[in-house]
Amino acid sequence: MKEFYLKKRLKCSNIEEPLPEFKSYSISIRSKYARKFYDEIGFSLSRKQRALKSVLSKEGKVRVEKFKNFILDGVKKIDISNIPSGHLYDIEVEEDHNFLMNDFILSSNCDGDEDCVMLLLDGLINFSKEYLPEGRGRLMDSPLVLTERIDPKEVDGEVHNMDICYRYPLDFYLSTLKCEDPKNIEMETIKDRLNTNSQYENLGFTQEVTDISEGPLMSSYKTLETMREKMELQLKIAKKTRAVDEDDVAERILKSHFIPDIIGNLRAFSTQKFRCVKCNAKFRRPPLSKTCPKCGGKIILTVHEASIKKYLGASYRILEEFKISEYTRQRIELLKMEIESLFKEDKDDLNVEDLGGQKKLSDFVS
Ligand SMILES: [Zn+2]
Repeated sequence: MKEFYLKKRLKCSNIEEPLPEFKSYSISIRSKYARKFYDEIGFSLSRKQRALKSVLSKEGKVRVEKFKNFILDGVKKIDISNIPSGHLYDIEVEEDHNFLMNDFILSSNCDGDEDCVMLLLDGLINFSKEYLPEGRGRLMDSPLVLTERIDPKEVDGEVHNMDICYRYPLDFYLSTLKCEDPKNIEMETIKDRLNTNSQYENLGFTQEVTDISEGPLMSSYKTLETMREKMELQLKIAKKTRAVDEDDVAERILKSHFIPDIIGNLRAFSTQKFRCVKCNAKFRRPPLSKTCPKCGGKIILTVHEASIKKYLGASYRILEEFKISEYTRQRIELLKMEIESLFKEDKDDLNVEDLGGQKKLSDFVS
């Protein structure tokens, strides 16, 4: 600006006139806003507007194409491949031909390729054998084998027994009245379709649903906090259901849950490690010094009496309320005696000092 007036003054040789003073502002309009400015506002001077236009012509292509909150990725390459089976299932959304998957992948069909990629990546990126825990059950539900194609014959046998009729025959209902063995009732199951083309399609069902993934998102097993509540509600349902023998349910809870748990914890108690309260060092046997050799801290048990006795009270409540076989009753009685003999002389907050203290011979006899 200043240079412009200096030149002008030279030209007019009007040296005496003082240089006018202006405040000048500069605005920088960047990237796509320059285009917006050109289109919607523009300079009033056509010279400037032209200059802007020539700059805009050199404008680079936008690196990412945005669509509302999404970024559209360009297609880089299209490969056409043949499907060995010769056919392919697809779902299309009428009119739009588009839908969102997992709220971030936009697709125009549903032949499962996106699902495949996501599932494969989960196995390849999010998984390593290094992540597997050390203990028992470590391999459970881990993606150790990636299968490229699912053969219904190789799927878990349980589903082969699923019935696939659209309507149950009258014979079925009549047989239920006779408490017939399910094996004797003729009903088409998946097993009958294996190795035929119809193993993939036209599988019947009797109950119409609006959403295939509808159902409880969280079971009450998760919302009920204590084992006692879970047990009580399970037994309550058993009592209400006419087809269920509640005494049998109660006995099964004892045999397959409580008794193994009590036995397991008893075993864990006798083979437990010891721990320093201060530095958390673990010891296979309590040190003779009765204190931690590393920091002098107190040594305590890692398996506690309470965890062994946890289900004993609940087991007794079941024994009182339900008809339980004599054999199971005696097993619980025996466990109770074993627990009592183990903790007889000990105080509630058992520690190593109690175990290591000197005992009289009579202590073992009584
Ligand atoms: Zn310590």
